[in-house]
Amino acid sequence: MKTVTIALLACILTAQTPKTSLLPDAQLLAITAEASGSLAKDTIIDLARFHRVHASPGFHEAAEYIAAKAREYGLEDVHIELFPADGKTTYNTFRSYLGWEPHFGHLVEISPRSERNEEIADYSKQRTALADYSNIAFVITELIDVGAGTSAKDYEGKDVKYQIVLAGGDVATVHRQAVELRGAFGVLSYQPNQVTGWSGDYPDLVRWGHLSPYNEKNTFAFMISSRRAHEFQSRLGRGDKIELQAMVDAQIKPSNFEVVTGVIRGTDPDAGEIIFSCHLCHQKPGANDNASGAAAILEDARLLALLIKTRTLPQPRRTIRFIWPPEIAGTMCYLARHADEIPKMRAAIHMDMVGGDPKITKSILHLTRTPASLPSFVNDVAAVFGEYVLDGARRAAMEGDFSDANISPEGSKDMLLADFHDFTMGSDHDVYEEGSFRVPTIYMNDWPDVFIHTNLDTPDNMDATKLQRVAVIGAASGYFLASAGAGEGKKLAGEVFARGGQRQARALQQALAANLLPDAYNYVEQAGRGEQAALQSVAQLIPEAKPVVDGLLAKSNARLEESKAVLAELRGKQIRGDETLSRVIPARNPKVIGNLDVYYYDYLKDHLDTVPAVKLNGTLAYEALNLVDGHRNVMEIHNTLRAAYGEVAPQDLLDYFKVLEKAGVVSIRGLP
Ligand SMILES: [Zn+2]
Repeated sequence: MKTVTIALLACILTAQTPKTSLLPDAQLLAITAEASGSLAKDTIIDLARFHRVHASPGFHEAAEYIAAKAREYGLEDVHIELFPADGKTTYNTFRSYLGWEPHFGHLVEISPRSERNEEIADYSKQRTALADYSNIAFVITELIDVGAGTSAKDYEGKDVKYQIVLAGGDVATVHRQAVELRGAFGVLSYQPNQVTGWSGDYPDLVRWGHLSPYNEKNTFAFMISSRRAHEFQSRLGRGDKIELQAMVDAQIKPSNFEVVTGVIRGTDPDAGEIIFSCHLCHQKPGANDNASGAAAILEDARLLALLIKTRTLPQPRRTIRFIWPPEIAGTMCYLARHADEIPKMRAAIHMDMVGGDPKITKSILHLTRTPASLPSFVNDVAAVFGEYVLDGARRAAMEGDFSDANISPEGSKDMLLADFHDFTMGSDHDVYEEGSFRVPTIYMNDWPDVFIHTNLDTPDNMDATKLQRVAVIGAASGYFLASAGAGEGKKLAGEVFARGGQRQARALQQALAANLLPDAYNYVEQAGRGEQAALQSVAQLIPEAKPVVDGLLAKSNARLEESKAVLAELRGKQIRGDETLSRVIPARNPKVIGNLDVYYYDYLKDHLDTVPAVKLNGTLAYEALNLVDGHRNVMEIHNTLRAAYGEVAPQDLLDYFKVLEKAGVVSIRGLP
């Protein structure tokens, strides 16, 4: 009897306290019940068999695999789109790479250790042994140590002609220095991986290396571990003469980028689309980067298609589109060809490295916010569902309460190691969020992963429970965004307003701690404007929410004024900083569409005879251009960058815009 009462009470309490503010519990629980981390991990195991280099046979096999699964799972209009990858065809600002067809790559020592038939690298057993874009070769020659091998001084007093150079620097740069400029036959590289707190702790990692994807005259590069390289270095240092035999059957040649897509149709073609994005490429095994993201969005496709087909979830208003491209290049191609779809893209969910077991990979899952140039509701949607999943995982780990734990039967019971993170670059979300496209994106990504881009990024490092939780955050966010109508518009505006208040409070804290008064006022000003833009973005997704949004905008503005009043009280009156560039206004050339910096491709280098040295690079350069809208002046752009990303000199910003003007990317008016 007592039990019944408690159960009833629990029932009432549950009914009164929904699990999230955005989705009805019945819909959220349908998603959590269906999501499967073990299915996602199975997909990773399958994908990890393919060496998925852009425009290569391995990528093609992976694309066919994903397309077949997407059809099996009930997506509509599933197809693989081809985009010429011939080193010439351009897709907006991006010039395509060439394709690559590898068959064979074998490096052995024939002297002095010929008796033992020393095998150094074998592509058939380990795909990372041969650098991408290597070409056919058969040579027997000596090995010579050139240190990093990336600058002229590494070659002083050394004749590398007709030799294989042992080098630790960026392998494409070494190829240029040693092979193209000095006549070496090829490269034996121990280029280390990206820097993390564990760099150097894993001497047997073999990095996935790349020669230039534009150079048909590449010879070859083999990749080895630092342990192996140090053995060679000490033998060469003792004066040993080491003779190697290199055999490569591979060809850099025109091919096609392949992009897999499929949709779950919405009820209203005019209500826009929600994108699920990832990148399907990378080396074998490439489990976390990025079979995991490809598998997690496939799992979201499967569960959403199933729940909608069985009418467990109502058909959403907006179409949900799933895209599996080769990283960045494929997204650039897709957005170039489907310019008509871009205005319909209301939001994207991008997953790149989402399955790493932190005990093994040291990874933290980040729910990464949009850049300062693109304040958006998506950050708060991700926060709502991210907090729900995190909270469930925490209660399971700390209290043994598994009611919202989202644990895979084949995964761990561990707490989810995750955070909400300010904008970082490095994946296809850079393209969606670029100033030409402005598709706000929820970016889910592990960092670090000590095995990224190596032979040991294996499926064994993946936790099925983490994958399941990521799939839940993705599916719940995506389904909410796709189905949100007038009622949801109110809820979402409320979330953005409430969470925006927290962010504005943090900006005030930052302002009170700032050294300079102009900075202090700038922090609160930028935070306030950012929150107002985020509120307005709700009405872009859900036009019916406009009256609610307008009401909240006034309140948000009052909050900004209140912060300024607190600053005046505690720190003194506002003092203007240097505003000399406030009459200088850059405007973007509407014909130059897309990102200027795409891994191996640099738009400025390709369009200027010489690129003047500029101090702005990375996120600052990307965001500087994103903020160019023909209205903002250089000081306003500076102020936004300063508050979001730290120190930047106004003159450096102006210098960068002048270079962009030279390349025809922007025009500048009001120059003194
Ligand atoms: Zn990646």
